[in-house]
Amino acid sequence: MNTLLLTHPAGLTHDNGPGHPERADRVRVIERILEHEKFMTLIRAQAENGTREQALRVHPESYIQALEQTSPLDGIARLDSDTTMSPGTLAAAFRAIGGACQAVDEVMRRDVQNAFVAMRPPGHHAERATPMGFCFFNNAAVAARHALAAHGACRVAIMDFDVHHGNGTQDIFWSDPNVMYLSTHEMPLYPGTGSAAERGEYNNIVNAPLCAGDAGPQFREAMEVAILPRIEQFHPDILIVSAGFDAHRRDPLANINLVEADFAWATGKLMDVADRCCDGRLVSVLEGGYDLDGLARSVAAHVLTLMGVA
Ligand SMILES: [Zn+2]
Repeated sequence: MNTLLLTHPAGLTHDNGPGHPERADRVRVIERILEHEKFMTLIRAQAENGTREQALRVHPESYIQALEQTSPLDGIARLDSDTTMSPGTLAAAFRAIGGACQAVDEVMRRDVQNAFVAMRPPGHHAERATPMGFCFFNNAAVAARHALAAHGACRVAIMDFDVHHGNGTQDIFWSDPNVMYLSTHEMPLYPGTGSAAERGEYNNIVNAPLCAGDAGPQFREAMEVAILPRIEQFHPDILIVSAGFDAHRRDPLANINLVEADFAWATGKLMDVADRCCDGRLVSVLEGGYDLDGLARSVAAHVLTLMGVA
């Protein structure tokens, strides 16, 4: 069994404007580092285009129409202080959900063991009907609903180690007993949600906030104590990872001091839980990570671990 890597040039065409941290170079450096011979055995494919049906499992039609109407023919359209659309944004956003659903298809069919979707824009701040924090469609949420609707999964767990809380994913699944959302993140920090007291209508939300200055030991303790046992108890049919790498010590947007080895460790622990619960089915989708060097090296450690060679 092997690891699938999904990319697509559409991911490069979304442009937040000059000086914005969420930029096309993020996926360029990821694609470059994954060209190393260590990654020779990756199964590589281009992400399929996403469908309206896939998006509608999470976002209302009125929201998709509003994005279509806002989409500029040239220049950029500002949705909030840090979320902007360029002419390529909508195509990139549809391609990102398409890749996430394709990864779920291949993992659920056992064509591959696990998958990494290296697409942008990211997704975890996008709520049902609100674009936010560089996000338009919630890629991980669309992937989860795809596993439930198209593959008969009964339970899906989404683990989010991006340094920011995935307010969007929490919002979408707050009252959904079939999906557990678990997050480690710095707090207080954007977007402000994610306290341990936020638990969801079915005790299906698990927040394990970290403090500015925390590093590997605190992150690993949060994973061991708060996150991994809850995934195991929930016993998902597939594990989706919102893989943000902005908890890296080099990242300019936050103050958690993880290194590549911490991301590799977390990846391995999540794979172990997936092995025990769901035959190892795991789909990882890229979220944040804004220091190009820290991002590329962290993704390399994450993907090598998924491949079982780290
Ligand atoms: Zn983030």
